[in-house]
Formats: sequence, structure tokens, C-alpha cells
Amino acid sequence: MLAPEMTPCYTPSMITRDRYAPSPTGLQHIGGVRTALFNYLFAKASGGTFILRLEDTDRSRFDTAYVQNLYNTFAWLGLHWDEGPDIGGPYAPYIQSERLALYQQYALDLIDKDTAYYCFCSPERLETVRSDREAAHSSETGYDRYCRAVKREDAARRAADGEPCVIRLKIPLDHTTRFHDHLLGDIEWQNTDINPDPVLLKSDGFPTYHLANVVDDHLMGITHVLRAQEWLSSTPLHVILYQSFGWNPPTFCHVPMVMGQDGKKLSKRHGATSVDEFRRQGYLPEALINYVALLGASYTEGKDLYTLEELEACFSIEKLNKAPAIFDYKKLEWYNGQYIRMKSDEDLAALALPHAIDAGLFGQNKNNAAPDKTQRRIFTEAIPLIKERVSFLHEIPEKLRYLFAEPSLPQTSEFVPKKMDIAKTIELLELSRELLEPLASLNDADAEVFIKAYAESHSVKLGDLMMPLRVALTGARVSPPLFGTVRILGAQVSLVRVERALAALHAAT
Ligand code: GLU
Repeated sequence: MLAPEMTPCYTPSMITRDRYAPSPTGLQHIGGVRTALFNYLFAKASGGTFILRLEDTDRSRFDTAYVQNLYNTFAWLGLHWDEGPDIGGPYAPYIQSERLALYQQYALDLIDKDTAYYCFCSPERLETVRSDREAAHSSETGYDRYCRAVKREDAARRAADGEPCVIRLKIPLDHTTRFHDHLLGDIEWQNTDINPDPVLLKSDGFPTYHLANVVDDHLMGITHVLRAQEWLSSTPLHVILYQSFGWNPPTFCHVPMVMGQDGKKLSKRHGATSVDEFRRQGYLPEALINYVALLGASYTEGKDLYTLEELEACFSIEKLNKAPAIFDYKKLEWYNGQYIRMKSDEDLAALALPHAIDAGLFGQNKNNAAPDKTQRRIFTEAIPLIKERVSFLHEIPEKLRYLFAEPSLPQTSEFVPKKMDIAKTIELLELSRELLEPLASLNDADAEVFIKAYAESHSVKLGDLMMPLRVALTGARVSPPLFGTVRILGAQVSLVRVERALAALHAAT
């Protein structure tokens, strides 16, 4: 039998609705994407609806560029919501700054219910309270509930007269707030530990996060709130708000945070955190989704690779871990390599092309030139040479640069196989001239048979024959496969490079 907190939190007949509710105050980062992904997967797995809601009430940190970044990020990831600001839905608008009148109405509703009150304290008074407490070394923090004592009729009149005011929630004194978290179990919070009487509606008519979040979750019919554990401390306050309105709270599920290897909250210090950075670094969306979906969750033992469709089918809250998830950049890199290898040559070439253009791979005279037809063909043909050898898209252009421009020749010693000298190396390279025509037209298997026989008939070791040729063609001892290289360069260009290397070796003797 499952432990009580592990019983499934929805029944098949229940219509689930969940949401990703970001505040557009920064670039979309890996933690946010994970929250969105879990909500998306939960909705898909339970046949429910996934909603995007923009919580843009913090106007001082709001920027439309962050909203654009949000849309771009999720379009790139291929994650789509069923209702949201861009596509609408039955509970529109899905942008909180377009719902101000609603929050004002609900804040007044709480005043009527006597579970909230007007507060007329000036910022100066609040500052005095704070500094007096500090001077007295008082342990009390937060608002001193001064206006809670103002008579309701007086407060209503002063507010109606236009006196600047906010609306605060009456946190019930001497009570405990209890709620059930689907992942963490039963949670109990002393009300005295909740920030005394938090502001719900600010003097400019904007709601605070708490009011807008609870009102919207209720009005939008949200059945499940899956969010990061950093919001856990807000939940008792939200539960009190639900109780104050007389509403049923949704099912809460606070997902453990994403940490760096050092156990501290994942941040820029650890590496890339925004999806934009990962994207620029040549990560594929499939790799990010697969890795992030497994960050703090266990699905099938021993299985690492999941398509989004597979995740949609197998996700459940029961599979989430309670312990914080550790972000492992190396593991993500492994995933990326896997997904790179799964791509067709054409698709991978198309994905790597912008990186190649950026890297100036095709620029004869100008950088950032687009490839001409031949270059484009060569680029695709060359993909199999490096597919198994890269973890990132941006590594591809550097590995293939020698195909598009003559590589600079290394020191002559680089051409010389072990236990040989330059004179012998020149002989080997001269021998390889004859290899080029046949190699350019043979497939790998036939090329191997051919070159082995050729080496044997000339009584040289295969490795010794290949080494100077490789350096002559690619400029390095370690390079993509030789046979493929000759095929792509062609016999003629290969010969030019061999002659160039021979000239350099002769000059060194
Ligand atoms: N606007 C909050 C955020 O930025 C939403 C938290 C929640 O999901 O309730 O993450």
C-alpha cells in the first residue's frame, strides 16, 4: 500500500487544471522550465489542461523583453500550453496586470468579510517601527498591526475620502495553519511565524503576488499547484487566504529545488542557467527537456532517454523525489551528445549551420557568410565524420574547418611517424599520392581493404602510411576519419595538399 501522502492526487474522473505562472522579471531559467515541464507533463498524463499565466504585478522588475524571452524559450523547447495570454482561453485575460479590477473587488470582499483591513501607515511610520525595534534589539519583525485596531467604519470612511492606504490580510492570531502537500505530506505552520498581516492590495491598486496568485488560481479553476519549494513558505498564507474567502484550496505539490554540485541553489556561479545560454551553447531542446524531466524524478529504472511523448505517458507526481535535485552539467552534455547522434545528417547540418556561419566557416573574404551550394553540400556530407565526436553543435564548425579552407601546416615534426625521420616521411607521403584517386571513390570498408593491401605491397605499416597523409590533409594528427576526408575533399584538392606538405618537408631537410 502507498504511504498516505503517496496516494495518487487525482482520480481518473477528475478534470485537472494546472499552470505555469512566471513573473517576467528575468530570463527563463532551468528551474522555471522544470516547473513548467512538470506542470505540462502532469496535465498531459492526467488528461488535463495546462495554462500559462503571466504574473506581472511587480512593475519595478517587469520588462517586455522577458515576456518575449518566455515565448521564444517555450517555442524553441516545443512546449505548448492549452490556455494562455497568446492563445486565449475561457478564463482570459491570462495577464495579471489586465485583471486589476478583479483583485480590487476581491480585496474589498475580504474587507466586507472582516478578514482584511485598510492600513494607512505611511512608509515613514513603518520605517520608524523597524528602526525602533532594531534599536531595542526586539525579535519582532514585520508590520506591527497598528491599523488592525482602527474601527471598520472609520477605516471605510478614510479610504472613501481618498486617504492613501493598502489592504492587509488579518492573519488569525494564536492559530496553526495546516495543509497537505502531495509530495511532502502534512505541513503545520504556526501563524505567529507568518509575516504579520501582509499587504494584499498596494496603494497604487496593484495586488501583491499572494492575492493575485490565489484569486487567479481559484477563478481559473486550478486543481493542482506544482511549484518550486521556494514558495512553500508562502503557502500557509495562501491557505489562510483561501479560508478567508471561503474557498477550497487546490492540491499543493512543492517540488524540490535545483541545486549545483556544491549543494547551493543553482546559479550563474555553477554555469549556464538561462535557456538562452544553453541554446547559444549548442544544446538541443530534446536534450534539455529529457534531462530536466529527470531532474528530481525517477521513471523507469535504467532508462535514460525519453521522448516528450514518452514522458507525457509516464509522468506522475509519485515519481518525483523529495530530495533536492543536483544539476549535473556533464550529464546534460551526455544527453546532448546522444540527441546529436540521433539526428539525421540533414537535420544536424541544418541545426549546426547557424553556428558554422557565425564561426565564419564559409567566408572567403567576409566573415559570417552564408555557404554557397557546394559548401552547403560538403557541410552535410561531412556530418557523418564528426557526429560521433561532438557533444555540442558549436563544436561542429571547428572540427570541419579544414574542409573549407586549407589548414595551416604544423611543424614538420608532426608529420613524422614514430621511429622515422623526415626523409622516410617524405617517401611515405610520396607513396600516398597514388592512393588519392582510389580513396576518393571508395566507401570506408573498401578503402580500408585497398589501403591495407597497398601498405603491405610497399612493405610499410598502415599507421605510418596514414599519419603523414592525415596531417597533410587536415593539418593535425588527430582529425575526423581519413577516408571520408579524402572522399569529400576529392583527389585533386587532396593532391594539392599533399604537394604542399611535401614542399614544406623538403624545405626542412
Ligand atoms: N509568480 C510566481 C513565480 O514567479 C509564481 C509562483 C507560483 O507558482 O505560485 O514563480
